Order: sequence, then C-alpha cells, then structure tokens
Amino acid sequence: MSAAFAVAGRAFTVVGAGRSGLAAANLLARRGGDVLLCEARADAPRPENLDPRVRFVAGSNEVRVGDVAVLSPGIAEVSPLRAEIAGRASEVLGEVELFYRLLPPSIPILAVTGTDGKSTVTTMLGAIVAASGRPTFVGGNLGNPLSDDLDRLTPEHVVVAEVSCFQLTTCRDFRPRVACVTNIAPDHLDYHGSFAAYQAAKRLIWRAMTEDDVLVVNGDDPHIATWTLPTRPTLRRFSLASADADARALETSAGTRLEVRARGSSKERLYIMMRHELPLLGRHNLQNALTAAQMAVDFGIDPALIGRALAAYRPLPHRLTPVGTHGGVTWINDSKATSPNAASAGLAAIDGPVVIMLGGSSKDADFTELAALVRRRARAAVCFGATRETIARALGGHPCVVVETLPEAVSAARDLAQPGDTVLFSPACASFDQFKGYAHRGEVFSALVAEQAQT
Ligand code: ADP
Repeated sequence: MSAAFAVAGRAFTVVGAGRSGLAAANLLARRGGDVLLCEARADAPRPENLDPRVRFVAGSNEVRVGDVAVLSPGIAEVSPLRAEIAGRASEVLGEVELFYRLLPPSIPILAVTGTDGKSTVTTMLGAIVAASGRPTFVGGNLGNPLSDDLDRLTPEHVVVAEVSCFQLTTCRDFRPRVACVTNIAPDHLDYHGSFAAYQAAKRLIWRAMTEDDVLVVNGDDPHIATWTLPTRPTLRRFSLASADADARALETSAGTRLEVRARGSSKERLYIMMRHELPLLGRHNLQNALTAAQMAVDFGIDPALIGRALAAYRPLPHRLTPVGTHGGVTWINDSKATSPNAASAGLAAIDGPVVIMLGGSSKDADFTELAALVRRRARAAVCFGATRETIARALGGHPCVVVETLPEAVSAARDLAQPGDTVLFSPACASFDQFKGYAHRGEVFSALVAEQAQT
C-alpha cells in the first residue's frame, strides 16, 4: 500500500507554506513530482530552503484541477476552502499521510494523539525505543515534520510520531502499529466546528489499524468512555482509578507501582517502576508514563529497560518547569498548557498555595471546570491577554487581577504571592495574541521572572 504510491511525473499542489507544507513540497520534488506550493499570504516570500524545482505562488490557495492536494494542517476541516479544494483535486492528503505512503513498509510507526500530553508521551516513548538500541526518529506535530527526515531513515528505524487531530483529518492509509489516545477535552473547537467533530477527528487514528496492531486509550476519560471502540486493533486501557485496567498504578505499602499488561493475549502484568523513580510532577505525568510503557511493551521492549528509560527521562521545556525561587516564592513555567484541561493538570500537580496566571488568545474554550479548580486550589489568579475578561468572569468573584500584558501579569503575581507560594504560569490559552508561540511566551515569562528577581 504505502510503497506503491507514485510521485514521479505526477502533479501535486501543496497548500500552505508552513513547516509541514515546505517539508512535503521538498519531499515531492526530490521524488520527481511536478510540485506547486501556494501560500495565501500575498506578501510571503519564496521560502529560502524550498527546492528549486518547486513552483511557488504567494497570495493564492488555488489547487490545480486534477492535482493531488497536500493540505497544511491550518486549513480548517469545516472551511469553505477545504470543500473547494476537495472539488478541484483528484485526492486530498496531509503531510503525515504523504510520509506514510512513501515510508518503506518495513519501518514501523508508533503514533500518539489526544488533547494533552502528546509531546510528553511521544518523547518518553522515543527515549524508550532509542534505549532499546533501535535507530529512532521522533517527530511530527512535535515541531519537526516527518517528511523532512524520510530520506535518512534506514530499514532498522522506528518512527515515533506525534499526530494532531488536524493531521488525522487528512490521513486515510496511515497505519501505526501501536497508537494511543492520551485523553480528550474540548480544544480547537474554532477549527473543527464542534466537540463531536473534534472527537471524530481523534478517532481517525485507528482507521487503518488491523488486528495485529495495538491501541492504548485512557480508561479514566469520560469522553472516551462514550466512544464505540474498535474490535481491532487490540485495545489496552490505562487507569489511575481501576486496578483492573491493563496499565495501572497500584498502591502498595512500598509505594505506587507502575504495571502494564504483557504483550499478546497474556493476562500477566509486568512491573515497570515505582512512582518515586519517575522524575516528573503530577498525576497526569503518571498517566503519560503508563501510556508510553504500555505502548513500548506491546512493541516488544523489555519492561526493565522501559523503567530505566523513564527514570532517566527529563521534562520538555515549558512544561511545569521551575524557573526560580525568589523571596520564598517558586515560579513555574507551564507555557505549553494551552488548553483549560492542560492548565487543570498543571494546577493539580502543585502542592500548597498557588497564584495562577491565565490568559492568551482564544480557541473558544470553556473555562468553567478550570475556574472551579482555581477557586478550590489557588489563592488568586492573574488574568492577562485577549481572554482576560472571559476568564475573570468565569472565576466568578474569586480573587483575581486583570491586566493586559505579560510583564504586568508577572508583576501582579509577584504582589499577590506570599513566601511559600508557587506562581504557576499555566495560561490555558494559545499564545498568538502577543507571542510567536508557546515557547516564545515561556521564554519571555522566564526572562521576566529573572528580571524581577533583581529588583
Ligand atoms: P501536547 O503535546 O498534547 O500539547 P504536552 O506533553 O506538550 O502535550 O503537555 C502540554 C501541557 O499539558 C503540559 O504543560 C501539562 O500542563 C499538560 N499535560 C501533559 N500531560 C497531560 C495529561 N496526560 N493530561 C492532562 N494534561 C496534561
């Protein structure tokens, strides 16, 4: 299936010159395709690292009639543009599907999707596979498009891919050998149109999986509990609440044991590690470790090796990262918490009194549940950015300071915090109102904290 996809001599229009569009256009050109890359921004320059064989047009979204269209993940599923492209193209793909079709069939893909925890599980699993001695390529929605690296993969490689729901809507044959859905919470509703459509996009992960494959899902997730799960691939559930789950955290007199189901149809559970050996805060990270461990065991990796790799894992930047303690107040950068669900996980991971900083650009999120947790767990909140008034309203009278910019928010948090407090920067929103992305926002936050420590 994947090896048979012909590129040479065929015509492709790649829509959107972001990182994945550029990667797709270059890959297709290298394989002898006739490639047009179009970009809606009229003033967009030709990307410097674009293959010279690709024709580039700025100020256009127009797919050539009869071409295979390769869509940027930014084109909303419900947009008129998407429908128009489908009408003109012979076939519509995304960059992940393209990568899959060109990937030698002997190279397995392990795929991670879900609302929160994708990057953490992907990099945990990548670290485990690499520790097992196989050449490992970790990429996808993580920030490095899969197609950029296709040509350097060897037959021994394993691909560990983070896949977003945007990317899943343009997949068809994409077949991971082992996949997971970390959890589901309302997110990106502006893009999908409804929570139902968002969940349907996530379910596309198993569309091409077979009975030889394994799907790991969150057994504690109330939304996944309403899904009709497939009879193939083989299902595994992880849970912090139920000892009957395949992957579980078992309370014992010696501490919490992480255990996962053995491979195949065995009922046996395998010991992975003790909770205290996992160097990450929060119950959500315990879930992430169980997910990665179950996926790795089902891929055939030795459980003792998995435990060692997880014990050596370090959190990615901007995810519950302490950035300093000043005047008895600990500041934590969780800028990657771009949804209310992620911010709730961050807040739940912190012991003791908290001042939480919330706000950013809107994804039409509902802050009701997060606000209830903030009222229970946080001494006060600072709301900033485009969503500041919406969040302040949701907090319903809980102590809260509303400001516009991040520098103002940091200084308001400093005024509110008392010695022994934690200031948690888990904004619960995207960052594009004032920043280039979550990483930029996290860097600005960390610099402001360092600066105010000197005043
Ligand atoms: P993603 O790639 O899905 O955005 P990350 O692993 O980058 O997820 O984590 C983003 C944020 O989501 C973290 O800062 C943390 O606050 C929160 N988070 C991580 N794992 C989980 C989880 N399993 N459940 C809920 N929230 C999580």
